[in-house]
Amino acid sequence: MADQVDVAIIGGGPAGLTAATYLRRFLRSCVVIDAGNSRARYIPESHNCPGFPQGVSGRELLAKMRAQAGTFDADIVEARVERIEATGDGFRLSAGDRHWDARNVILATGLADRLPDVPWCEDAIACGALRLCAVCDAYEARDQHIGIHGPADGLVGHARFLRAYSPQVTLLPSDRDLADEDAAQAQELGVRALPAGGTLEFDGERCHYRAADGSDEVFDTVYPYLGYEGHGDLLTGVGLDANEGDLRVDPHQQTRVPGLYAIGDIVSGLNQISVAFGQAAVAATHVHNNLPLLPRD
Ligand SMILES: Cc1cc2nc3c(=O)[nH]c(=O)nc-3n(C[C@H](O)[C@H](O)[C@H](O)COP(=O)(O)OP(=O)(O)OC[C@H]3O[C@@H](n4cnc5c(N)ncnc54)[C@H](O)[C@@H]3O)c2cc1C
Repeated sequence: MADQVDVAIIGGGPAGLTAATYLRRFLRSCVVIDAGNSRARYIPESHNCPGFPQGVSGRELLAKMRAQAGTFDADIVEARVERIEATGDGFRLSAGDRHWDARNVILATGLADRLPDVPWCEDAIACGALRLCAVCDAYEARDQHIGIHGPADGLVGHARFLRAYSPQVTLLPSDRDLADEDAAQAQELGVRALPAGGTLEFDGERCHYRAADGSDEVFDTVYPYLGYEGHGDLLTGVGLDANEGDLRVDPHQQTRVPGLYAIGDIVSGLNQISVAFGQAAVAATHVHNNLPLLPRD
């Protein structure tokens, strides 16, 4: 037996929870199915989330958003959706032996950062020794000694952004030394590059880069740019591939599969909470307007 709903929302981060609040206030039945790994849970304190002048931690924001969706009786289920299939008049979602039949699906599954493979990662993020989003928090790192860690190919582009915040920016390539052209651009920007092959370490407060020759350099903060984990074959049943976080959508957030919408980090090039909020409002309103009218008695 499958539960029947107007809309199934996959993912209970800022995007999915906002969509649930809108849809319940449109008096539509919906379920949020959430695996519980929102990127937002890593945010020690956000200072660019509208409405929180003193800042807000990701966990507090998620708790408030769940409470808000709960105010309107949103059904939030802890589970990981493994498969979505088109059924002709909607979609069937499966998570283990649970199933939901929905007229529409809103995909709000976000992205999972690929992190350095070290046991101290979460502790370093919590104290700002590691930062994952320069748009979000480079402001807090201004004038600090900033390291940028990741494949040599993309590092200079990240340095260009971060150089506006600090005179001390150092590249820490994870795979090979910078190509000559990149090294020249780094020099032009006034950015140093250390030789590849070192390891990142954490002393409880700050990250160090220990080079292959044994030398050790300390950073106030390090931005790792290691890409994102994919979503496996979640969408192969509907002919889409969501692994790169760049699902294409129309101005209503609808994918090329009618009735299947996508919002938040899984779509946007700008992975921000405020973008997730806006996309959720647009998708939920379009879904509502396209469902049959439910005249009120
Ligand atoms: C350290 C850090 C700091 C940040 N700071 C800021 C900031 O200051 N300001 C800002 O605007 N943004 C910030 N961000 C970015 C922000 O967290 C994301 O843009 C935001 O969380 C995206 O929301 P989302 O709902 O699209 O995805 P997420 O918040 O990632 O939520 C997606 C949810 O979907 C669930 N899910 C995935 N697959 C499935 C499945 N198959 N079945 C069921 N559930 C599934 C996940 O478990 C997760 O709970 C930061 C991110 C990080 C990592």
